[in-house]
Amino acid sequence: MQIPGPMQIYRLDALWDNYIFLLYDPESQTAAAVDPAEPEPVLDQVRSLGARLTAILNTHHHGDHVGANQALMQRYPDLVVYGGAGDRDRIPGQQVYLSEGDTVTFGGHTAQVFFVPGHTRAHIAYYFPPVAAEPWGELFCGDTLFAGGCGRLFEGTPAQMVDSLSKLRALPDQTRVWCAHEYTLNNLKFARTVDGDNLALIERLAEVETARRHHQATIPAVLGIEKQTNPFLRWDHPALQATAHSRDPVQTFAAIRAMKDRF
Ligand code: ZN
Ligand code: FE
Repeated sequence: MQIPGPMQIYRLDALWDNYIFLLYDPESQTAAAVDPAEPEPVLDQVRSLGARLTAILNTHHHGDHVGANQALMQRYPDLVVYGGAGDRDRIPGQQVYLSEGDTVTFGGHTAQVFFVPGHTRAHIAYYFPPVAAEPWGELFCGDTLFAGGCGRLFEGTPAQMVDSLSKLRALPDQTRVWCAHEYTLNNLKFARTVDGDNLALIERLAEVETARRHHQATIPAVLGIEKQTNPFLRWDHPALQATAHSRDPVQTFAAIRAMKDRF
């Protein structure tokens, strides 16, 4: 059995505040694009690596996540487009329809698929568990979990989103969170208004303010830090429940989400 080498991950800027992630496997010189919003950054990076693009991993059907599918398929006609089973007819070029518990293999690395509806009704996330001596797992969660926040509920209910985020929250602290937007600063400013006594949050907000002032990206985030500071993973914490005037996890989440929608 061949032990897979480390998978390289490139974070590419796209559109206004989107990130595309390019997975690169040096062994096979193949690459996979996660949520390609636009083709140029992907093609440039693939070219500079001397790689071949073999897959697109989509988390959901929104245009800022699938916008480059057609152009990339034209350039690499053999590439395979993955997405959620419920996104049939909504993701351009989709060929593989994934459900909870399915796996996707890229360059010897196998991702587990989580069904995480809420932002959209068909949203999925891809999780690559740590391999061999490497402590970090890699989570590609689209617009479900953000650094310091979560996606808006366009096609789902608070109960669905709590269920979805519970799956992601259950992953190890040493998981890198590769979410699709640079929303962290605004998210943490909001978080402070609902969880103001949280010292880890106050510290993190200061760090992110500094990073953004220097135009540094805040992605990937670290799941262990999300668990301590992201109000949308803390529906069972007394401070958030006090803000929401509820002891019920779903009602707490729903109240905090509604406040964020108006923030
Ligand atoms: Zn979206
Ligand atoms: Fe998006």
